[in-house]
Amino acid sequence: MTTPAAVRQRVDAADVDLVRIVFVNNSGVPRGRVVDSEKLPGALERGVPAGEVRVVPDPETFTVLPYADRAGLLLADLHTLDGDPWAAGPRAQLKRYLDEVDAVPKMAFESEFYYARETDDGERVPFDDSTCFATDGMQSAHDVVLDTVDALKAQGMGLATYYPEYGPGQQELVIDHGTGVEAPDNHVRFKETVRAVAADHGIEVSFRPTPFAEMPGNGCHVHLSLWRDGENVLYDPAADGPYRLGEAGRHFVGGLLEHAPALVAVTAPTVESYDRLVPGMWASAFACWGHDNREAAVRVPSVSRDSPEATTRVEFKPTDNTANPYLAQLALVAAGIDGIERELDPGGPLDRDPGSLDDDERAARGIERLPTTLSEALDALADDDVIAEAMGEQLHGSYLEVKRSEWEQSTEDGEWESEYLDRAF
Ligand code: GLU
Ligand code: MG
Repeated sequence: MTTPAAVRQRVDAADVDLVRIVFVNNSGVPRGRVVDSEKLPGALERGVPAGEVRVVPDPETFTVLPYADRAGLLLADLHTLDGDPWAAGPRAQLKRYLDEVDAVPKMAFESEFYYARETDDGERVPFDDSTCFATDGMQSAHDVVLDTVDALKAQGMGLATYYPEYGPGQQELVIDHGTGVEAPDNHVRFKETVRAVAADHGIEVSFRPTPFAEMPGNGCHVHLSLWRDGENVLYDPAADGPYRLGEAGRHFVGGLLEHAPALVAVTAPTVESYDRLVPGMWASAFACWGHDNREAAVRVPSVSRDSPEATTRVEFKPTDNTANPYLAQLALVAAGIDGIERELDPGGPLDRDPGSLDDDERAARGIERLPTTLSEALDALADDDVIAEAMGEQLHGSYLEVKRSEWEQSTEDGEWESEYLDRAF
């Protein structure tokens, strides 16, 4: 437990003068207020007002920012003016839900993004012309990646994997997994850090789902396991081979597939997200699962031989960086737990590209196309009682409202979303 007094001590010790108090709204965009460190005691106690709500920092989340002079960051929950957690606030709702189900997810966000630059004519282009895993990409991005990794580590986030991704200038940089709300908190810190460090190098960053036409999209696949009493619920030591998914694990997958149409409204929540979810792009377009199958929405990766329990997990691929990470965790866990409770059978794993099957073959295997537009996904979310109950009526309703207005605005005016995504992601 970090007390407000301990935060104040760290603020003094690190000479922090400005503290950012940040929450993530339903659109997945981090926002907040900045307080003078002298006013921090009051802010820690009562939060800071923001219209109809108060932004109340969680002392547990304090970090000194390595990319901004004399600045710190606190992640926050939204409270009503009466001081209760606001029922439409994603982070507080996630914490409430995790307390209720008495289980804790471990989660990693496998974030992809492009380093970009502007040409003399003002056009945004990838920052180099490297290819997948290419060493020239490692070299051209080395300085900025090194500074980014340093800054992540200074905030307690270790580097899990890094390589130049498929697209020119595209990176995949993954931090170690987090437990419970720590995982989405870290994802927020991660994106802030990537962007700020790149800006110091004069490099632009795009987390958009498909920033460049004809080039690979930016996914943010989610790796997830569920723990109760210190044990991985998905794991069975007696299960076969390199995949140790037990019965509960299979049912968890069944839940993800059953709720997939509604889940994508949360995990792939912008109009552009659906340009990414097309066959043949390793992003996934069909609600099916497979072992190490890159075209399946749910991929079960092989486990590490040294630590099979710790590495037994499922990967939900139709997720991108425009998602609110708190809502993504909430919805995915709720879907998986529903699968366990109802003992949903995901069927056998698919060992080939679902896009290579014809419609009849897919129908025979019960494989459906994921929603092809945000609007379709939102309709599925509106009809999904399990996710609605986990989110709570107020959050579910306000989320749908925000996202439907984004859909309407962007279909009325094609420019709107592009400008909005460039500013926000
Ligand atoms: N870029 C792909 C996506 O949009 C993923 C590539 C990979 O498998 O890492 O999801
Ligand atoms: Mg990747």
